[in-house]
Amino acid sequence: MSALAGIDQALWDIKGKALGVPVYELLGGKVRDRIRVYSWIGGDRPGETAAQAKERAALGFTAIKMNASEELQFVDTFDKVDRVLANVAAIREVVGPHFGVGVDFHGRVHKPMAKVLFNELEPYRPMFVEEPVLSEHADSLKEFAGLANIPIALGERLCSRWDFKKILAEGYVDIIQPDPSHAGGITETRKIAHMAEAYDVALALHCPLGPIALAVNLQLDAGCYNAFIQEQSLGIHYNQGNDLLDYVMNPEVFDYSDGYVKIPSGPGLGIEVNEEYVKERAAVGHRWRNPIWRHADGSFAEW
Ligand SMILES: [Mg+2]
Repeated sequence: MSALAGIDQALWDIKGKALGVPVYELLGGKVRDRIRVYSWIGGDRPGETAAQAKERAALGFTAIKMNASEELQFVDTFDKVDRVLANVAAIREVVGPHFGVGVDFHGRVHKPMAKVLFNELEPYRPMFVEEPVLSEHADSLKEFAGLANIPIALGERLCSRWDFKKILAEGYVDIIQPDPSHAGGITETRKIAHMAEAYDVALALHCPLGPIALAVNLQLDAGCYNAFIQEQSLGIHYNQGNDLLDYVMNPEVFDYSDGYVKIPSGPGLGIEVNEEYVKERAAVGHRWRNPIWRHADGSFAEW
């Protein structure tokens, strides 16, 4: 579905450019001029997260997302739980009570500890908890429903409308997060988003990727009424030596202000890729891999 997404996105860009209109016009027009964005701060290693949140707030962002925890065993000790809470409390202290704080369990947390953390996080009023359990365990989400009033977000690992169908019908997810670069592109993701609207479920597209992905996401946000916030990777903690805007000739199309980014209105996806720079970087290549984490007993820990 990722390969299909690439082709789908290219075709929408080509058609929009051929007709001289942004993709959202081909999809029926836009329902918003801009969309709220959140900025990633690490959270992998607690300690620096409060300072990072403060920095993002100073840049104008009104929301951040963080990883909840470090390595966490199926059943772990409560000092780890306390560290997660201290971390979120420190962030709340610097950004105040009304700043959006998304907390991503990131597949690191298994159900026994997820229930504990989910419940304990409620007083800090998270904007959402993301993947309290992995999508494969979505059947256990009903166990979270009575624990705390925190919106549950999920969906970055689901790749088609049929993957989302059961999740939406079950009714325990509040926010879906399909990734238009992995869920079949603009065509499939739009169908998923509109399905969710019928269940009163919000849309927060997954986008920790590059400028083409962000441009695609913004074209979808333009026309999907249930979109309320957009992930984006400007300054993301794992981009070292490269950043989102390096690869486009017209980085000014990503117009950030007051915690929002404007919907680009140029033809197609609204961006011009810097192909020379892409070739240059492709010649260098990369071999990005997840860090390998281990539990204290030597077993594999999900990053
Ligand atoms: Mg995530």
